[in-house]
Amino acid sequence: MLYSKLFPKTIKEAPADEVAVNAKLLLRGGFIDKLMAGSYSLLPLGKRIERKIEQIVREEMNDTGAEEILMPLLHPKSVWNETGRWDKADEVMYKLEKQDKEFALSFTHEEIFLDLIRKHINSYKDLPIMLYHFSTKFRSELRAKSGILRGREFLMKDLYSAHTSQEDLDNYYEKVKETYLKVFKRFGLSSVVTEAAGGVFTDNVTHEFQVVAETGEDEIIYCPGGDFSQNMEIIKEPEKLEGKQCDLGHGPLQKVKAIEVGNIFRFGTAYSEKMNVSFVNDKGEKQYVYLGSYGIGITRMIGVLAEVFHDDRGLIWPESVAPFQFHLIGIGESGAEEVYKKLTEKGFEVLYDDRDIGAGEKFADADLIGIPTRLVVSPKTGAGKVEVKKRNEEKTEIVSFEKLFV
Ligand code: ATP
Ligand code: MG
Repeated sequence: MLYSKLFPKTIKEAPADEVAVNAKLLLRGGFIDKLMAGSYSLLPLGKRIERKIEQIVREEMNDTGAEEILMPLLHPKSVWNETGRWDKADEVMYKLEKQDKEFALSFTHEEIFLDLIRKHINSYKDLPIMLYHFSTKFRSELRAKSGILRGREFLMKDLYSAHTSQEDLDNYYEKVKETYLKVFKRFGLSSVVTEAAGGVFTDNVTHEFQVVAETGEDEIIYCPGGDFSQNMEIIKEPEKLEGKQCDLGHGPLQKVKAIEVGNIFRFGTAYSEKMNVSFVNDKGEKQYVYLGSYGIGITRMIGVLAEVFHDDRGLIWPESVAPFQFHLIGIGESGAEEVYKKLTEKGFEVLYDDRDIGAGEKFADADLIGIPTRLVVSPKTGAGKVEVKKRNEEKTEIVSFEKLFV
């Protein structure tokens, strides 16, 4: 991609009303644009990152045996009335009325999934069913101040599973838990599995995946050894826990700020009974399906990566999700164009800053945009050679062009 053709270019200052680090950097770098509080466009650079995040999540979800679908965003009131959530989740739902009919914009999809599968299940042989999609969620968020960490509209991956027994649900739930840890690791993040209450979703304990970050809205008490973590919101007497020695000898429990990147839920048969989602078991008896649901915040993930991976010059994307592999800069008459052509022919993703501006400005933009590897071609680097610098290191190295291909 030629930077001269990319929409839009970097901007010097973030708009004054942005307070969150992720929003400031992503706006300045040209990854996102704000329509209103909690409502952002993903621009070409941001969309590239989103696509890579989505692909990693897709691969891992498929690995659990789940299949990808796409469910609607506009829902009839009737389906939400079946579980009582039309009223119970009123605070978070966007509702609309048109031609005397009432609708909700999707804030989650448990009811829609159950409505879908009840048309197709007869016997226990039709289960389990595991389906997921990537789609928009609408939530009437009061605290839409954290940039793309908390939108009124955002992308989520949500997976739903239906099982013949609590045991089968539990087994799949554990599999998804492990898979989530793997997903976040592929983004370069270590996440803490944290017990939390289920809010409008369920009365059962749920598991959140929390990334420790100073700017997080959540607070967790956790053992750095990894065997205990609870969200502060549910803890009755937190003062009894903080600083307490971990039973396994890992040291004192710590209270830290964190950002929730994923959340998994076990509903049992609570919703399937209300919606009559049943099957005939191997003894010929009617039984209700056991439901699980599993979310990952896709848009939020872009924001979390920006919060965790940046310095005072700009963003530092992990290689697995970076919008491009190389940020190529040419200085003077140095043949950078040739390097760009060869790299793209070989299938590398290259952002080539071909603008007729000073080198300093190009370097500053490369640091702000945060592509993991910067390549510089100049008369100084010599024929057939390029200067290579990793965004997260200070040292530069002159290597022969061919070395880039290995
Ligand atoms: P939170 O506690 O942060 O409000 P939640 O528990 O309501 O989130 P879930 O319903 O569990 O969220 O949604 C699954 C995932 O979707 C969350 O783990 C988070 O990563 C993401 N998410 C939730 N709300 C938002 C939002 N308003 N903007 C962006 N991402 C969100
Ligand atoms: Mg949650």
